[in-house]
Amino acid sequence: MAVYLDNSATTKPCPQAVKAINRMLSQTYGNPSSLHRMGIEATKEIISARESIAKALSCEKDEIYFTSGATEANNLAVFGAAYANRRKGNRIVTTAIEHESIIESMRELEKEGFEIIKIQPDSKGEVNINDVEKAINGSTILVSMMYINNETGSVLPVNSLKKIIQRKGAPALIHTDCVQAFGKTEVRPKKLGADLLSITAHKIHGPKGCGALYIKKGARILPRVFGGEQENKIRPGTEASPLIAGFGAAVDAFGDLKAANRKVSKLNEYTREKLAGINGVIINSPTGASPYILNIFIPTFMRSQTIIQELSEKYGIYVSNGSACAKWKKSHVLSAMKLPDNVIDKSIRISFSRESTKEDSDALCGALKDLIEKHPE
Ligand code: PLP
Repeated sequence: MAVYLDNSATTKPCPQAVKAINRMLSQTYGNPSSLHRMGIEATKEIISARESIAKALSCEKDEIYFTSGATEANNLAVFGAAYANRRKGNRIVTTAIEHESIIESMRELEKEGFEIIKIQPDSKGEVNINDVEKAINGSTILVSMMYINNETGSVLPVNSLKKIIQRKGAPALIHTDCVQAFGKTEVRPKKLGADLLSITAHKIHGPKGCGALYIKKGARILPRVFGGEQENKIRPGTEASPLIAGFGAAVDAFGDLKAANRKVSKLNEYTREKLAGINGVIINSPTGASPYILNIFIPTFMRSQTIIQELSEKYGIYVSNGSACAKWKKSHVLSAMKLPDNVIDKSIRISFSRESTKEDSDALCGALKDLIEKHPE
């Protein structure tokens, strides 16, 4: 039996999502824009999914815009906000530990002449709100800060941004990438003070290739893609109705998020204790991190790519080295934390889901002990 501890890369689709996708592919396959019954039925499925997601975020259903995932939602938010507000100012504030889809979007905007200020984290991957405050000025048009970091699980101070922006009199919109928070902890754009918020289905036991951007009513951004009337012309193109229905079904299957969080917190503590008993293992994640993510250094001569392959081939255990989107590159998150090169090269990310068990953790810790003994540094 495989031990799957790579849930921040992607999750196993839940049966409800699979059922909804199958239904849409085999029965309700009409184009949602068609006027006949099958088109209307497909539209109803999209409306229902939109309602489920809006309820989970405590927002209005017409504030949800479906995309192909969070990469697209992040691109839409960042470019859309920058282009819509370029007459009001030129500065964009973000952090050095965002997902590649934000980092690369910012690089493009910098080439176009926007001033990008990247806040550096401390050695635990945490961002100090005072640094953010110093960076925001009257010509800041966008602040983009993720809620939970995908490599270390560190929690960023998104909910303090609105007050600072108001105090500084900045015309800035607030965007937050909530991919690793949604479905794991409470995510409410209003409570966070967010104007724009990205989520994706495949991290919450839904299908790959479907995400959403929350756009607060009244917040103006420009589209990146042009075409038909779908998604209020902000994201035109025939809707991925099977994936959207699967997304909605996965959200409906959330259950009690607080209870799941408590269960995963206990498992995280248990794993941390077991890891503390293995000579030389260092935990890179801060103590206040999301319980779903644990980044650790493994004292062996092998680099993280080899550790991952060994764990997979010899022990049937699946983990990652940081972001799944940049698996061969040195982690920009651990680099920004200024960890020594040796630690960056030999660190892995363990990521739990609500279905992870103590047995999974025991298998991983046993395998790591074995691996370190056989292949010491
Ligand atoms: N943002 C974060 C924090 C992520 O972890 C990921 C996925 O790795 C993404 C964005 C991109 O999401 P998607 O795979 O839906 O494009």
